[in-house]
Formats: sequence, C-alpha cells, structure tokens
Amino acid sequence: MKKIIKTLAFACIVVAMATACSSGNNTIENTENPNPEPTVQKWDTLVALQDCKQQMSAQLFEGQNDELLAQILPDGFAEASINAFLLKGEKNIVLFDAGLGESRNGQILAKLDSLGIQPEQITDICITHFHTDHIGGLIASDGSATFTKAKLHFSEEEYEAWTTGQLKDQNETVMTMLDAYKDRYEIFHAGDTIVDGIVTIAAPGHTPGHTLYDIGDAIVVGDLLHAVALQVEHPEFSAKYDFEPEQAEQTRTAMLEIARTTHKPLAGMHFPEPYIIKL
Ligand SMILES: [Zn+2]
Repeated sequence: MKKIIKTLAFACIVVAMATACSSGNNTIENTENPNPEPTVQKWDTLVALQDCKQQMSAQLFEGQNDELLAQILPDGFAEASINAFLLKGEKNIVLFDAGLGESRNGQILAKLDSLGIQPEQITDICITHFHTDHIGGLIASDGSATFTKAKLHFSEEEYEAWTTGQLKDQNETVMTMLDAYKDRYEIFHAGDTIVDGIVTIAAPGHTPGHTLYDIGDAIVVGDLLHAVALQVEHPEFSAKYDFEPEQAEQTRTAMLEIARTTHKPLAGMHFPEPYIIKL
C-alpha cells in the first residue's frame, strides 16, 4: 500500500511540475530559442463515453459479509456501466480503454462520432487492463484494428501476465489485439509518465498489471471499483472478477484514501452516471 501512495505522491509532484512548466510564467530569458515548444500540451476536460448500461449483481460480492451486503444492495444489484473516457489535447486525442466493441453492441464508436471524432483521429489508447470489456472495442469483427493510427499503451506487468504468466490460458482476445496493433504498442513501467504528462500508477489486484492514469485534474481508475454504491464506503468488498481479492482490497483502500485527500475526481470504467465522481 505504501508503494502505491508513494507512487501517487510522486505522480502529483510530476503533474504539478508539468503544469507549472506550461503556465508560461518562465522569467528566465531563453536567448537560444525565443519560442520554445511547450513541454506539455493543454488538455480539455475528460469526457465519459458510456459503452452500455450494466447492473452488478450482489452475488459478485457474496461470502464476505452477506448481511451488510443485503442491507446496502437490497435489490440484489448495483447500477453500473461499461465506460471509456476521452481526453482531447492540442496534439493528441487519447482514449482510455475501448469498451466491448461494436460487434458486442458497444456504443463507443457512436459516441465518438456524435462528438465529431472518427476512429483514425485517435492518437493514443491507454489501457487499464486486458479484460474483454476494456479491449474488445480495439478489434473489429474481422480481427483488424478499429483505431487505425492509434498507439496502444499498457503496463509490462499486464503484458507479461497474459502472454507468458498466470492468465495466458485465457488470452485469445489479447493475442488478437496484440497482432492487430503489432507495430503500434508501447509498454511502460508503472510510474512512468506517458503521452505528454499522463502519469501511470500501478494498481494490482483486479489483474496483475491493472493500471490507473493520473491526468492531473482527475484519475482514471479502471476497475478499481465495480459497484460504486457498495465499495466507496466498503472497499473491503472485492468482486469475484478480482484476480487477487486481498491485493485488490489493499489497492482500493489506498486509492480511495488518496482521492479523499487530494480531492481528485475518479473516472471509473464501471461507474454509473455521472461516470466521474468526487469523494
Ligand atoms: Zn471491467
């Protein structure tokens, strides 16, 4: 847990420094280049793209504290969604995950189209982890890349888990994705800063290389939470989807504490409307 807090504290410093660099208040005269390129581009506000609505069954959380579970989710489910998020900058147009995909009735491409953005305009896709409801939308039904010019970014831990590690027996979609984007992916180490100021944060538990992205004024949290109505107040509940439930609980508890301290909004891939929440 300490490592995660330390990583995020560092991330905040890096982002603060990056913001300061782009503010234009540099009083030191640059005689060699009077018009230096800004090191960090200006980003628009993060936009949620709902792929589809979802209900998370209470059964996903059974066997941990069933009495409390029944009190908090008396209808037997929590409202949820499958979401991706869009971040438009001066140079880059970044997508965080890609939902299920059109062949599974996902709405991400339709949502992008309604914003006037075509798939070939997406320059970067930051992937939180390799489950199908996050990477399915990267691949068309014929196995080709949906986003023909985008570079994929994902963590080394996630790549290794699905190609040579514990999850390699269930990696059909992952291998199709890696093949479709074979000349266009970049593997990072959690903690690296990518795409002009986006800070990657290790958040293991849901999957081995599950990654969060700190974009400065919000954090994209992937599958840190599956049922907002339950887990914001009770992070001790892990969903049956979590690969390492105890590790997921530790990560969730630490990140929620940081969100409360930093007041940064969280953007979750399974959050119901309004998709981005402030604790
Ligand atoms: Zn998911």
